[in-house]
Amino acid sequence: MTSITIYDGAKTIGGNKIFIEEKGKGVFLDFGMNFKKYSQYFQEFLKDRPSRGIYDLIHLNLIPKLNIYRKELIPPDLDISRFPTLSIEAVLLSHAHMDHYGNIGLINTEIPIIASPTTFAFVKGMTDSSRLTHQLEVAFFCKKTKGLSDKTIKAISGAYQTRNLICTQEYIDNFEWFLTTNIKNAPKKDGTLKTLTRSNLCDLTNNPTQFEIKSFPIDHSIFGATGYLLSSDITIAYTGDFRLHGKNADKSKEFIQNAKDASVLIIEGTRATREDVEESEEEVYENCLKIIEEAKGIVVADFSARNFERLEEFKKIASKVSRNIVIPAKQAYLLKSLEQVDKVDRTSDILVYGEYKSGKDYWEENFLKNQVNYIDPTEISKAPDKYILCFSFYEIKHLLDIKPQYGTYIYSSSEAFEEESEFDFLRLNNWLKHFDFNVCGFEILNERGRVKPEFTKGFHASGHASKSDLLWAIETIDPEYIIPVHTENPTWFKENFDNVIQAKEGQKFVV
Ligand SMILES: [Zn+2]
Repeated sequence: MTSITIYDGAKTIGGNKIFIEEKGKGVFLDFGMNFKKYSQYFQEFLKDRPSRGIYDLIHLNLIPKLNIYRKELIPPDLDISRFPTLSIEAVLLSHAHMDHYGNIGLINTEIPIIASPTTFAFVKGMTDSSRLTHQLEVAFFCKKTKGLSDKTIKAISGAYQTRNLICTQEYIDNFEWFLTTNIKNAPKKDGTLKTLTRSNLCDLTNNPTQFEIKSFPIDHSIFGATGYLLSSDITIAYTGDFRLHGKNADKSKEFIQNAKDASVLIIEGTRATREDVEESEEEVYENCLKIIEEAKGIVVADFSARNFERLEEFKKIASKVSRNIVIPAKQAYLLKSLEQVDKVDRTSDILVYGEYKSGKDYWEENFLKNQVNYIDPTEISKAPDKYILCFSFYEIKHLLDIKPQYGTYIYSSSEAFEEESEFDFLRLNNWLKHFDFNVCGFEILNERGRVKPEFTKGFHASGHASKSDLLWAIETIDPEYIIPVHTENPTWFKENFDNVIQAKEGQKFVV
């Protein structure tokens, strides 16, 4: 008898935490951060307190009330022992987006994590190049101790350890070196990098779970995305996030074809609420090329920092119009992280933006700097029409050091669906007006006194399947039960199919 419990992400886009249980133990499919719930209480300048471990998140119901979390993140005035314990054999991670992996860092560190090598490389790269939070402690973690007040928690300096990591595929030595080396912190006195205290690292031939696990690469807006088939008495298919209109659509289709034996399909439904538009990366390429061919002065292309498929498109455009691609150092570090998986050089034809920094970041100083070419803002100022800058909203401030007189800005990312992110577009628009930019991809409209962004189609292709592609996937697999997740519109599935399980969060569904 197999049971499925959706602990989170049944009615929101993201925050997937799905537990598959048999004989009293089981696996989680993703353990992501639920941004929708989180933003009900928190924002950029009001965050949960890391010094209190998981106290804030438990009290505000932002993570499930379960007894599965790291002991060292539980302050003495929080008792989680009365919550149900789960015997977790592993967490299967679908891809390296925070809404899928952002809460894994909080759970017991002995629990193995299963993911593709590319996903692990992304996750490690993110942790190396960001300020360490508990949420980011997925590839490796830092041990904690009591803080000044005994109700608080702080990191033990230098006490870094990898988690138990299981790759869905074989990996090369480079990758093993990368995952077990401390690139984030100061090196040894002789300049060589320190190693992280090691836990287990292996591939799925050492499957620690009771399920047979088959993994399939699938197409999404981040490399390394994986769909899973989980079999014991029955077979369960989990799509993670996927699409059928990207360059690697064939991979997604292959997964769908292989999932035909599944009696349960757990499927994402991000675009079940949205208009059914046809879109493709090719169209995005053509539209952006047209704009950039005509552009005078500097070009700024704004797309998700981890969407390297989009970066490939802009690289092609750049070589066609004889411009150079310039990316932020953090993005270059992630490209280098991926290189540790497949040895594919993705940085020799790009320049890294030489941001003015007052101090050094070790990942940059000891790893990135001697492998890539940097460009100083003053160099860009001398011939701005020679560059395409891949900057997001958060990097736009660096234009103050480049001082362009005019230029072209292309917004090539997803639309704002929340009012809060709409405000960011008003700010972004002010920056672009300040530099007299020609803006493509969105415009600010005044609708009966409400100023808001309106997005132009054709500059972004979604990472998610359209409604007609969702229908195709479900009809092809033809499962006995359909469980929609990662959607604000589970009702759409009910309207189209009669075997939909609309799961209540935390409620067990026995197959
Ligand atoms: Zn995703």
